[in-house]
Amino acid sequence: MIGFWVMLVAQGAGWTAEVSPCDTLWTPLAADSLIAPIVSRVDTDSVRGVIARLQAFGTRYYTTDSLQAARAWIFQEFSRRGADTVFEQTFTYGGYPQANIIARKTGRCPDSLRIVIGAHYDATASGNPQQNAPGADDNASGMGLLLEVFRVLQDVPLKRTVEFVAFAAEEPGLIGSGVYAQQAAASGDTFLFYLNADMIGGDADYVNDTVVVEVDQGNQQVGNDAPSQAFGDSLARAYALYTPLGVSFGPIYGSDYMPLEAEGYVTFGVFEYHWNSTYHSPDDVIDSMDVGYTTEIARGVAALVVALAGLDTTTTEVAEDPGGPHLRYAPVARRLVLSRPASIRLLDPLGRVRLVRSGVRRLDLPRNLRPGIYVVEMANGLQRRRVRIWVP
Ligand SMILES: [Zn+2]
Repeated sequence: MIGFWVMLVAQGAGWTAEVSPCDTLWTPLAADSLIAPIVSRVDTDSVRGVIARLQAFGTRYYTTDSLQAARAWIFQEFSRRGADTVFEQTFTYGGYPQANIIARKTGRCPDSLRIVIGAHYDATASGNPQQNAPGADDNASGMGLLLEVFRVLQDVPLKRTVEFVAFAAEEPGLIGSGVYAQQAAASGDTFLFYLNADMIGGDADYVNDTVVVEVDQGNQQVGNDAPSQAFGDSLARAYALYTPLGVSFGPIYGSDYMPLEAEGYVTFGVFEYHWNSTYHSPDDVIDSMDVGYTTEIARGVAALVVALAGLDTTTTEVAEDPGGPHLRYAPVARRLVLSRPASIRLLDPLGRVRLVRSGVRRLDLPRNLRPGIYVVEMANGLQRRRVRIWVP
C-alpha cells in the first residue's frame, strides 16, 4: 500500500487537478446528481417576493418615476444577491433616461463564450401612461426568473461567465434590447446564446403544466436557426429531467431576443403556454398568475445554465508546498481522501474555521454544511497545502 501512495505523491499536483477546468466546456445534458440540488434551491417564495415587489412600485411605464424606482431596486438587488459585477447601460428614449441593468457571475474560464439571459422590467397598460401597469405576468415574472437564477448560482462555481440583463423599454418597441444588441455587434462582442424570459406567469384560471420553448425560425438571419433549435432541445431536456413541466415548441417573436437575432446572435426563450388574460392591463397582478409555474420554468433555466456553463468541480490548489499531502475529493459523497495522514482545517466562504481534525486520512464532511466554496488546509509537520473545493 505504501508503494501506491509513493506513486501518487510522485505525480505531484497532478493528483489533485492537473486537467484545466476549461478543457471540457460542453456538458451534454444528462441527469446530474450535482445539478439536482441546485435546481431544488430555486424557491417559490423567493420568486413571489420579486414579483410582488416589482408590482408594488405601481406602474413601470417607461416615462414614470416609479419605473426609475424599480430600476434602482433591481440594481441594488443584484448587488445584495452577491454580484461581483453590476452596471447600467444607459440611454435616452423619448426624452426619458433609461438603463439596462447588467450583472455578471464571472466564470473561471475568461476565454470561453459567456451565456446571456435576460428579461424586461418595464410594463404597460395598453400604452396609456396614466393607467397603472403593475406588470406581474408581463414581465415581473421574467424578472423573478432572472433574479432567482442569479441568486441560486451565487455559490456555484462555473466555468463560463453568465450575464444577467434586465432590459429597459421593451414595451415601446424593444428599445433597451436594441441598444444592447447594437453595442454588442458594434464592439464585435460574442456570446454562446441569449435566453429570454418574457411572460412566464401563466394564468391562474388554468392548470399551468406546459412551458413554451421559443426557438428561432428564420427571421433576419438564418445561420443562427440551427443552434437556436439545439439549445432549445437542451432546455426541453432540462425541463424533462428536473421539472414536472411538459414542453411545447414555438417561434421567437415580439420580445427582446429579436434585435439580438437581427445581429446574428443565437437566441431562444421561454413563454407561458396559457396566455395571461390580464395582458397589458391594470389587472396584471400577481393573483392573476401562477407563481409555482414561474418557479418551475426558472428551475429548467437554472439547470440548463449550470449544465452549459459547466460546473467547475475540480479541486484547485490555492497554496502549494510540493511536499504537502495531496487530496482527492468526491463532491457528491462529500468525502475527502488524503494521500497520508494530516491535520485538516476547513474554512468556509467567509474564511471562518468550520472544522478541525488531526491525523485523518479520510473525512466525510458534515451533511449540514451550507453549499459553497470552501478551502481545505492540510498540514503534515511543516508541510502544508491549501485546496479549494466546492460543496454542492
Ligand atoms: Zn413583455
